[in-house]
Amino acid sequence: MLQNDAVTMLLRRGVLRPMPQDNLIEELTEEQVALLEQSLRALREQLLKHLEASSQSAAPVALDQTSVGRLSRMDAMQAQQLAASNRRRTQARLEQIRAALKFLEQGEYGACSRCEEPIGFRRLQARPETPLCVACQGRREGR
Ligand SMILES: [Zn+2]
Repeated sequence: MLQNDAVTMLLRRGVLRPMPQDNLIEELTEEQVALLEQSLRALREQLLKHLEASSQSAAPVALDQTSVGRLSRMDAMQAQQLAASNRRRTQARLEQIRAALKFLEQGEYGACSRCEEPIGFRRLQARPETPLCVACQGRREGR
């Protein structure tokens, strides 16, 4: 008892630091994995619908349309390019979601694909398809 009080006092004065595992990212619990699997599946649905809905706007602009003027045709082409790059991003994200669902099946979900440390529930909640932990993501982006 006396010893605990001494430790508490030292902690309070900043002489001792809290155990390092307090700051470590925990492995996911089963409940968390189930939640993240739900969001992955919902996200996949949503992105697939988005792809379906945008397939028209990303189609090449017909250049022989006489009813549109030069400027609006350029607008239409810009909009088409934007839609096409949106679609590419969405498709890349869908790929990550598919990979994440595969990791889930194999029981390897939630570990960073580079350093194998847990990615952490909070980060996965924000982006359940991410294959990298914060540190590795930062390294990849050259930060
Ligand atoms: Zn990592």
